[in-house]
Amino acid sequence: MNTGIPFLPFPHRHLLGIEGLSPDEITLLLDRSESYVEQNRQVDKKQALLRGRTVINLFFENSTRTRTSFELAGKRLGGDVINMSVQASSIKKGETLIDTAMTLTAMHPDVLVVRHPESGAVQLLAEKVDGAVINAGDGSHEHPTQALLDALTIRRRKGRLQGLVVAICGDILHSRVARSNIALLNIMGARVRVVAPRTLLPAEIERLGVEVFHDMAGGLKEVDIVMMLRLQTERFHGSFVPSIREYFHFFGLDYAKLAAAKPDALIMHPGPMNRGVEIDTAVADDIDRSAIRQQVEMGVAVRMACLEVLTRNLSDAAPAK
Ligand code: ASP
Repeated sequence: MNTGIPFLPFPHRHLLGIEGLSPDEITLLLDRSESYVEQNRQVDKKQALLRGRTVINLFFENSTRTRTSFELAGKRLGGDVINMSVQASSIKKGETLIDTAMTLTAMHPDVLVVRHPESGAVQLLAEKVDGAVINAGDGSHEHPTQALLDALTIRRRKGRLQGLVVAICGDILHSRVARSNIALLNIMGARVRVVAPRTLLPAEIERLGVEVFHDMAGGLKEVDIVMMLRLQTERFHGSFVPSIREYFHFFGLDYAKLAAAKPDALIMHPGPMNRGVEIDTAVADDIDRSAIRQQVEMGVAVRMACLEVLTRNLSDAAPAK
């Protein structure tokens, strides 16, 4: 699609995380995504950019939004997409992962989109395969396309990222979404706060370049963006909150707590949402304040842009292995 946006090179073979990307590279991905937002609103959403290319979605962990949107993204660009779900319980960690990588490489995929419950597993796999690898979430480590779609949503609603004050609230400890967003927002010149009980914050979180708050009244004061996170109970080893009721009372986003933020503050959540746990239903569904549906829409566009830039980097010749 000729968008008039110049195509600058993206000097990375894989997209494993936000860390290591430059402001220009992030801007390039967001600008490319813009053209796909428009394309996705047309009746004919399809083009042939990925014709002949194979994308494999390899998911070792559950997903609804991310897997579906990568599938749609690949198909809308004209590629062949297959989905492979592997039950985490049947994996013998490293060994099986490498076996899977070798098997898949023999099928010559151009792009592998990988989600895995272990931090670092996607990087390991990327070292073993020939094509490009996109991290669709590895443990509590990174989820780069989520941070990019969040950034695109914010940029469209607020016109910029630079200088905005963003509060990321809830289960920071287990959240790859938080890590990728903290990295991206810092690179792009936003100010990041984290708001959470002490039990849900990693040690030395300040080193990531955030301001830390343990109460919503202080943490949300005058912020532009309120980003809520799900309690990742599947990653809980032990007890991190006294009770759901108490957690909602102190950290669940409702209108009373939102009142501390700027009057036009935007509400975000990566999904899946636990209504009544980290966010009140009325707030989540507030069409004027909540960008949650728009985040899902931006997800498809961002994933199209990522597939586009990474496949442009692959040489036309198939590797001779
Ligand atoms: N969907 C996001 C993730 O995969 C957030 C979540 O699951 O809470 O990390």
